[in-house]
Amino acid sequence: MSEHIAVSRALFDEVMVPNYAPSAVIPVRGKGSRVWDQQGNNYIDFAGGIAVNCLGHAHPALVSALKEQGEKIWHVSNIWTNEPALRLAKKLVDATFAEKVFLTNSGAEANEAALKLARRYSIEHFSEDKVEIIAFNQGFHGRTFFTVTAGGQSAYSDGFGPKPGAITHINYNDLAALEAAISDKTCAVLIEPLQGEGGVISAEPDFIKGVRALCDKHNALLIFDEVQTGVGRTGELYAYMGTEVVPDILTTAKALGGGFPIAAMLTTTKIAQSLKVGTHGSTYGGNALACAVAETAFDLVNTTAMLAGVKQKEQVFKAHLATLNEQFNLFADIRGKGLLIGAELTEQYHGKARDILVAAASAGLMILVAGPNVLRFAPALNITDEEIELGFARLTTAIAEVLK
Ligand SMILES: *Cc1c(COP(=O)(O)O)cnc(C)c1O
Repeated sequence: MSEHIAVSRALFDEVMVPNYAPSAVIPVRGKGSRVWDQQGNNYIDFAGGIAVNCLGHAHPALVSALKEQGEKIWHVSNIWTNEPALRLAKKLVDATFAEKVFLTNSGAEANEAALKLARRYSIEHFSEDKVEIIAFNQGFHGRTFFTVTAGGQSAYSDGFGPKPGAITHINYNDLAALEAAISDKTCAVLIEPLQGEGGVISAEPDFIKGVRALCDKHNALLIFDEVQTGVGRTGELYAYMGTEVVPDILTTAKALGGGFPIAAMLTTTKIAQSLKVGTHGSTYGGNALACAVAETAFDLVNTTAMLAGVKQKEQVFKAHLATLNEQFNLFADIRGKGLLIGAELTEQYHGKARDILVAAASAGLMILVAGPNVLRFAPALNITDEEIELGFARLTTAIAEVLK
């Protein structure tokens, strides 16, 4: 064992690539929506590992699934298939529009697969020059070079040399802009049904219907990036189910494994045919251990009670935020769907979101931000009322500290 290595936050700066700036404490244990750090301080978790830990920490059913599969077989590569992968894919197909599933490891990889599939499908069925992708400003799709270029923040994709081409960005919720940009050369429109990283912004119902109609008109595939909104997050199993629109391709990751890395791309049989044997792949994709945990998480989330609970807790969260706002008058907007909630700071407090995140951590609460002006909350879907109460008491302390 290597426990003789003294582990502290300082070691991060010594041995890790500096692309992250983690907070000063190191979490070591979690249970439900509570987390403990090395010093034994406890936290209420309103962050959920960025919308990942849909069932909180150390959920007994997920722990058993992991242990049980861990005793059987972990990994066989895609030269073979495995039972948990097939069961998970069957569950995803039964619960959604999809007929075919591609399993992979992260949101970016699921989106990478979706974009490659859209390109190949369009070239195969239409023409060599039907390769243009339309995506949205402030959108986020991952950090591979293709997906980060599809994302709507050039700050993330600049500085790495020549970018993948034929990607256009327009404003979210601007149907006229899409109408102007789309053409018969468009192979896909890539969109989050609710922009998460971009500030917790919902697509307007008429906009999303218009996007579907324009895609149909131009034979462009509609890709829903549900990496953050999927697996119960919005109170629907997938956010598209709360719209009147069905995508052609959907990507899901974050909450899919309840904390174990896994992702999937879902599509129809017809579209899937364009990824023939050998055209795409992933060593870890469909890893048995990951799939065993994910199929268990999926069963627990995909129940009427769990999804109704998310909608009910949304109201509790928003009521608490409204109360905070009565006290401090610091939010210009409280928004989001299900347990993906954003609170935008008033102009007076612009730029202060991170200060509040840091103060919250000191007060024993994990929260998220979405840009410099929005507090973001993405707790476990099964967070208890007691945990919510305690979390908001701590948030009140933190905000009082920042505003004083
Ligand atoms: C987090 C996120 C991604 C990227 O997922 P990774 O697992 O970090 O690659 C892609 N799209 C959306 C909408 C996300 O929120």
